[in-house]
Amino acid sequence: MYVGHAGAALGAKRVRRSIGLLVLLVATYTPDWVDTGLCLAGAYNPQEMLSHSIPAIALFAVLGFAAYATATRDWRAALVVAAVILSHMFLDWITGYKPTWPGGPMIGLRFYDHPIADFLAEGAVIVIGALFYARTLPPRKRPWIDVAVMLGALLLLQLGVDIARMVMKTLPKC
Ligand SMILES: [Zn+2]
Repeated sequence: MYVGHAGAALGAKRVRRSIGLLVLLVATYTPDWVDTGLCLAGAYNPQEMLSHSIPAIALFAVLGFAAYATATRDWRAALVVAAVILSHMFLDWITGYKPTWPGGPMIGLRFYDHPIADFLAEGAVIVIGALFYARTLPPRKRPWIDVAVMLGALLLLQLGVDIARMVMKTLPKC
């Protein structure tokens, strides 16, 4: 999943408002940051075992939980951060095809092969996340226009990704 992960971060803000949106955005893309880091380090593994397998993401969630809990002493918020990291795995299973564990099977519905289905799936996560996020804004003058602009920008971004995938078939990941 591409932009859809941002939807998960936005939705989580509603669950625990004290968590900064930036923290949630870092958390939601953790496996992809690791992927990019490995790529930059020249150690890219195409199977994504180190970044997207179940044990890898479980480890990131535990580390994220520990880091956030240590920094803030807010254990419930740390749980939300860990859940956002874990959400990456489940969302990628809808759109992608990911390793389970070393020697284990690959799983995923591979919506990437069907750009329209991918856009609908990611778009749904983005819209739901933005609606949850909107409810965290001050009640009397909720800047609905800001939320609408943000939502439109995120959907356009995802549309761009899906069109690029349609044209190029596979996006270079590394
Ligand atoms: Zn990913």
